Amino acid sequence: DQISIPYPQRNGAGKVGRIPVGIGRKRLRIVVTGGAGFVGSHLVDKLIARGDDVIVIDNFFTGRKENVMHHFGNPRFELIRHDVVEPILLEVDQIYHLACPASPVHYKYNPVKTIKTNVMGTLNMLGLAKRIGARFLLTSTSEVYGDPLEHPQKETYWGNVNPIGVRSCYDEGKRTAETLTMDYHRGADVEVRIARIFNTYGPRMCIDDGRVVSNFVAQAIRKQPLTVYGDGKQTRSFQYVSDLVDGLVALMEGEHVGPFNLGNPGEFTMLELAEVVKETIDSSATIEFKPNTADDPHKRKPDISRAKEMLNWEPKISLREGLPLMVSDFQNRILNEDEGKGQ
Ligand code: NAD
Ligand code: UDP
Ligand code: UDP
Repeated sequence: DQISIPYPQRNGAGKVGRIPVGIGRKRLRIVVTGGAGFVGSHLVDKLIARGDDVIVIDNFFTGRKENVMHHFGNPRFELIRHDVVEPILLEVDQIYHLACPASPVHYKYNPVKTIKTNVMGTLNMLGLAKRIGARFLLTSTSEVYGDPLEHPQKETYWGNVNPIGVRSCYDEGKRTAETLTMDYHRGADVEVRIARIFNTYGPRMCIDDGRVVSNFVAQAIRKQPLTVYGDGKQTRSFQYVSDLVDGLVALMEGEHVGPFNLGNPGEFTMLELAEVVKETIDSSATIEFKPNTADDPHKRKPDISRAKEMLNWEPKISLREGLPLMVSDFQNRILNEDEGKGQ
């Protein structure tokens, strides 16, 4: 599965093989499903920057062309409008499989479509990986732990998930995607990697996806009260997107299947997060309490010892460092929306 292009080597001999990128590494052809989304587009930036060929597959359900537009015209970048629920034929070396709505508003919008994306979409990408001998990475989620009875969560924990709840299309969907991934690994020798991603934030997040970070940041910019659900004492751990992308690449390039928790262990209550947003954007912002949603996990914090040890990876950017990095992106997009409304 190499690009067969004669390439003059430093020593002058013409050799057939993948095109060397930098010293000691060959240029890879990589598919990123969901590459027009929040995490996917940052991953694409990194892969293009290091010199690889990238094909993005996206149906633009929550993704946006604007997230990858800066690569248009680059011959090493290709964007395909395609739904992963349908089969596709491609020839690549690696598949990063991210396509799936990730926020509750989006995955609950059409739950059957969400579970089809998780099951049939993952099956198709594994079938593709099997046919062409590509390495496959699944972006699973901390939601596979459900409302955890173990804290913090290690990869060995099997989870506490409601199979018939409103979140099940997503969390049970991802659990099935993990099962499919392991079955293709064991049964068809597909090289696989599984990441369990914890709450991630950064530029290009959907503004109105209902996630707590995007809500608070947009509310503070729009001079609206920050909406805290429930008593605000539930906890989450927030990871800056570049840390996640580094972890995904380390996992893909490493020798271990996983699953690996990829998240920032810094744990915050929603009230503490509201305080950090106030400090960062507008100290006069107020808080409004609202009822919480069904099945909301009370606490969540990754145990990342396995990723530290086996992938030599850990997040570098704290919440107080990362939040300011998404503010100008949100300000620009909110400003554009407001200008659009005025026309
Ligand atoms: P996102 O919604 O920004 O990106 C998902 C992308 O997938 C979008 O571009 C969307 O258009 C595309 N997509 C959805 N269904 C598709 C389909 N059927 N066919 C083709 N494309 C499709 O979300 P994100 O935050 O970037 O999440 C990326 C991945 O990471 C998802 O698999 C998500 O489950 C996982 N994840 C994210 C987080 C997080 O905090 N952001 C946490 C855990 C897991
Ligand atoms: N598939 C795909 N692209 C490929 C190879 C397979 O989309 O290059 C799809 C295929 O259509 C099938 C799924 O992946 O729906 C699983 O493929 P596999 O070969 O494992 O199973 P089978 O086709 O035998 O059911
Ligand atoms: N939340 C909140 N205010 C909001 C949106 C969410 O207090 O405006 C809470 C929500 O109830 C949950 C936490 O923030 O306890 C994280 O929610 P999010 O949807 O961001 O992520 P997930 O529940 O998937 O971890």
